[in-house]
Amino acid sequence: MPGKVVRVRRRERLGWAERLYLPMIFVGLGVTARVFFRNLWGYIIGKKKTFVVQYPEERLDYADAFRGHPVLVALEDGKPKCVACGLCEFACPTDCITIIPGETHDPIERIPEVFDIDMSRCMFCGLCEEACPEEAIVMSRDVELATYERGPMLFHMKDLLRDEDTLGRRIGFIRQDYDR
Ligand code: SF4
Ligand code: SF4
Repeated sequence: MPGKVVRVRRRERLGWAERLYLPMIFVGLGVTARVFFRNLWGYIIGKKKTFVVQYPEERLDYADAFRGHPVLVALEDGKPKCVACGLCEFACPTDCITIIPGETHDPIERIPEVFDIDMSRCMFCGLCEEACPEEAIVMSRDVELATYERGPMLFHMKDLLRDEDTLGRRIGFIRQDYDR
C-alpha cells in the first residue's frame, strides 16, 4: 500500500505557544507518545504485527509524492525529451546540473549534447522538475546511491535516461500538483 500524502499548512504568524517554544516541545512529545501507545495497543490486540521493514529484502511502496533522484525522460526513439533550455540548470540551488546544448537537423530544436548531474551535491529538492517546461526531468523513485568514491556520483545522460512509461506515477502526480 503506498504511503499517505499529508499536506501541512504552515501559518505565517506564530502563536504565543509557538513563540514561547517550550510548550511546542511538549506538543511534539505528545504526538510521539500518542503514536507509540497506538502502535503498542495495536500490537497487544494483534492488529499490528510488524514495526520494521526488513530492507532491502522488503520494500515499501512509496507515495507518488516521493522524490528520489532526478532522471531524464526518454522519447520512444531513446533520445531525451529535453530541449536544453537550461531552466533546470538555472533553478538548481546546488549548481549540480551541467548542460551543453547541441543542435539537431531541425534549426529550431535543440537537444543536450551533455547533461550531467552531480548526485553527490543533489539534495532531491525537485526544483529542476518544477522548472522544466517539457516534463523532461522528473524525480524518480530511486534513492540507492551509496558509493565509496565521488566519481560514480557524476551521472551522465546515459545514466539518467528512463522510459516515460516507468515514470508514469510521478508524471501523473506532478501534473496534478503543478496544475498542468
Ligand atoms: S533535485 Fe534539486 S538539487 Fe537535485 S538537480 Fe534538481 S534542482 Fe538540483
Ligand atoms: S528545464 Fe527541462 S527542457 Fe530545459 S534543460 Fe532542463 S530538462 Fe531540459
